[in-house]
Amino acid sequence: MDVALLIIDMLNDFVYGSLKVPAAKEIVPKIKKLVDLFHSCKKPVIYLRDSHVKGVDLELKLWGEHAIEGTWGSEVIEELKPQAGDFLVAKRRYSGFFATDLDLLLRELKVERLVLTGVVTDICVMHTAADAFFRGYEVIVVSDATASLTPERHERALNYMREVYGAKILSSSDVEAMLSRPQP
Ligand SMILES: [Zn+2]
Repeated sequence: MDVALLIIDMLNDFVYGSLKVPAAKEIVPKIKKLVDLFHSCKKPVIYLRDSHVKGVDLELKLWGEHAIEGTWGSEVIEELKPQAGDFLVAKRRYSGFFATDLDLLLRELKVERLVLTGVVTDICVMHTAADAFFRGYEVIVVSDATASLTPERHERALNYMREVYGAKILSSSDVEAMLSRPQP
């Protein structure tokens, strides 16, 4: 069973810009370490990226303008800049699966287990986890490599994903240990 690292919305607008998540900066080193680990194990690294159509996407009415296609705000932050061989999937909704080719990509890569990192735990991470669960993927959410607007919202979402989607909630060091063992 192959495993992929998903990095959700670690974009300029969510880390530094118009929809800044205060704790997003703190998780960058944890995600970077996982990216390096997945690269060294030659496992896929997939960036999910909000890429909204200005004046059209429904979500912009709720949250205000953010991550507009083609702008600085919709680019992955410099510290986690994608490398050759990484995959980028643009999305216009919370879920990385909705109206994107993520499912096709994962099937072609023979991936059945997903490691979710990024922001926001109770929004894009949770909706992506739900859609992954519906499609039969095994979901791991990394508790210290995801962040929400408050610690309470973060914890609530982790518990919800564990209870409702059967997600495994692991620390980044748990994931490192898991990858150093032979995969079942
Ligand atoms: Zn958005």
